[in-house]
Amino acid sequence: MPEFEALTVPVHRATTVVYRSAHEFLNRSNRLLEGFSYGLYGNPTVKTLEWRVSEIEGGTHTMLVPSGLAAISLPILSYLRCGDHILIADCVYGPTKELCKGLLTRFGITHSIFPSDAGSIEPWLNDQTRLVLLESPGSYTMEIQDIAAIAAQAHDHGAIVMMDNTWGFGRTNMFDHGVDIVSTALSKYASGHSDVCLGACTVANTELFDSLRSALIVLGIGVSSDDAYLVLRGLQTLDIRLSHHARHGYDVAKWLSSHPAIDTVFYPALESDSQHARYKRYFTGSNGVISLILKERDQRRIEMFVDALRVFKIGASWGGTQSLVAITNMTDARAARHWPETPWVIRLHIGLEPLATLIKDLENALNLLP
Ligand SMILES: *Cc1c(COP(=O)(O)O)cnc(C)c1O
Repeated sequence: MPEFEALTVPVHRATTVVYRSAHEFLNRSNRLLEGFSYGLYGNPTVKTLEWRVSEIEGGTHTMLVPSGLAAISLPILSYLRCGDHILIADCVYGPTKELCKGLLTRFGITHSIFPSDAGSIEPWLNDQTRLVLLESPGSYTMEIQDIAAIAAQAHDHGAIVMMDNTWGFGRTNMFDHGVDIVSTALSKYASGHSDVCLGACTVANTELFDSLRSALIVLGIGVSSDDAYLVLRGLQTLDIRLSHHARHGYDVAKWLSSHPAIDTVFYPALESDSQHARYKRYFTGSNGVISLILKERDQRRIEMFVDALRVFKIGASWGGTQSLVAITNMTDARAARHWPETPWVIRLHIGLEPLATLIKDLENALNLLP
């Protein structure tokens, strides 16, 4: 075969890993944590992405899992035991609350929910609290917890802190602020093209890595090299995509906040946003996710606004090249504190289309409202 070297990481598809001797084969469990032993437990494509994600998150070890949701569930299921208590921010990803209410309750693990913008978690900590789950800014309404203060309180009580860092990926180092486990949905900006679900758990010490990895191995959860490859490809443009989404995100948020049909805009990078001080403390940049509340209160007319958008497609998720709009009822989504506004929050994802096209689309739809 003539010599061949490419810029890309090869996509390895393999179940069997071949050993050089019976002795190596009999001792293959030694390779489970770092080396390659069987297809399910990783290959060079997957390992390369794990290294890249560790680098971006600022940790030492990363485990890939099939979704962002699995990246949250895995540490919870591997770290907690019967009798433990988990404390979660009210704004965490919806299905995580269902995990706490359902499976964890069945396993004898209790949970409490604290307000999403908390500066202290002291009132909710107890002797059984072993894990505190944060998400900053929170999905939909962008609350930012006082991460360093909360991490210090958790550690004083012997609990570890986990962060859903999907929003901040590439724009923060959560380990600098006391976070122990960082879980990220790579399905969003990391992959960047709305075509793959993948998640990552990153830690900054070997002890946590060993316990998470041991759990992962017995749960039989692995990821496909093709999916890992798509994220490796996306990461090559992560930085410039994030900067572009953030620039247009800021401009759209600013434009929306002075529009007469808009009640509130949630975009922490805006100087006028209630979370701006914490945004400056914990993040080095923003992205294209904007939430808003319309002055209009009638559900039918709010739906009419959403339906009138042409460039923004209606759909969940964000982080791809195309602009999206989603609508949610916050009254059902908040437990720690009564949601004071109208229930309807609209979330936009500002894609890579021209700024003027996006503003024109929003303007046309807003003009239908009084
Ligand atoms: C999308 C998302 C998840 C879940 O990621 P999936 O890959 O879709 O499972 C978790 N947390 C946040 C904040 C998200 O936006």
